[in-house]
This record gives sequence, C-alpha cells and structure tokens, in this order.
Amino acid sequence: MRILLVEDDSMIGEVVQDALRAEHYAVDWIRDGASAQSALATTPYDLLLLDLGLPRTDGLTVLRALRAKKKTLPVLIATARDAVADRVRGLDAGADDYIVKPYDLDELLARVRALLRRGQGGAETTYQWRDVRIDPATHTASRAGAGVPLSAREWAVLQALLARPGRVLSREQLEDKLYAWGEEVSSNAVEVYIHGIRRKLGAALIENVRGLGYSVPNSNPVETLPKAVRT
Ligand code: CA
Repeated sequence: MRILLVEDDSMIGEVVQDALRAEHYAVDWIRDGASAQSALATTPYDLLLLDLGLPRTDGLTVLRALRAKKKTLPVLIATARDAVADRVRGLDAGADDYIVKPYDLDELLARVRALLRRGQGGAETTYQWRDVRIDPATHTASRAGAGVPLSAREWAVLQALLARPGRVLSREQLEDKLYAWGEEVSSNAVEVYIHGIRRKLGAALIENVRGLGYSVPNSNPVETLPKAVRT
C-alpha cells in the first residue's frame, strides 16, 4: 500500500514516515500543498495523510480540489487545529477521518489501517484466502494456523493482492504500491516476491494472468466456505 504523507514539520514528518515504513507501507513525503497536488495527479495512492496548515496551498484546498475531481482516495487529516469548527470543515471538505496533534503513533497507525480497509472495500480486519491468513495489525502471515515468515515486500505484495481477490494487478501497479520515489526497483523484483510467496504459502494462492499481471483467485472452493453458506 502506498501512502502520501503531507507534512511541513520536519520532525513530525520524519517520525511519521519512519513509523509508516516500519509497517511496510511505501511512503512519499511532501512538505507543501502545491507539491501534494502534483503528486496526487501523477501517482496512484491508497491513502492521503494530510496536514492542514501547509505552505503554498493549504490542506483544505488540496482536499477540496481532490474531491472536486471525484477522487475517492481515503483521506486522514492530521492537524494541530483542535477547534471543533476546523475538524468539521475538514470532514465537510471530504476527509474520511481526522487525528489531532500531538497524537499517539499507535492510534495513527490503527486509523490508517481502518481507512485502508474501507478504501479497499472490506470490513475484515484480517485477510483470508482458503487456509492462508494475513493480519495487517501484526504483519504476520499464517497457513493452516501455522506462522509463515514473509519479507516486508513479500508481505506488501500479498496484502495488495489479497485486499481484493479477483482483481488483477500488473507488475507496474504492484511496483507503485511497493516503492516510494527514489527507491531502486530492479526489473524482476515483483516476480521474485511472487515466487517467494508461492513457495511459502502455496502456488495456488497467486495466479499469473497472462499479459495482465497477478491476482488471488476470486472464489473460495465450496469446501472451505462456512457451513451456513453451503446450501
Ligand atoms: Ca503544518
């Protein structure tokens, strides 16, 4: 998952960027509103973490412009403005949630997970496919209940695919979710991660869709569905 962090305070920006990267997100950090607008126009993000008081273009303007383009990207406002009126303005301008500075990093990360979950159209807090399960809160993966160690990038690839079974993501789309600007991408990196995931969690988990990319197959076989669904 790729996150755009917009924050003009260097100390806060650095701490938040580090915390998000430690959670395996790809993070681009921008320090002013105008640059945020160009980044949003050119890069596919899964979430926007937006400060309101920003140089050049303020956060509310960035948010209103984004929503005017009918973009449904989840937006979490993080701001020192704790007045009720500011929070209301932010939500009315199209934010999905807000957090008031100074905030607790664990709370920020939980809100990020919640918004990403909703942004991907899901309500589940863990992702499951047959006997494979991954948990974004703990970054753990398991198969048939047994823990399976994945690298940070293998985990990120699997989360992107498991978030919406049946959706095909091309190699380029996966790279966009894995790498922030300035990070070196080797040409076969995605193939290597997919190979690693299949080796550890079973080859059936990820399908190669010829010429298009990769997906987690959509339908679970009947025998893995809960009893109530088997009619
Ligand atoms: Ca600020």
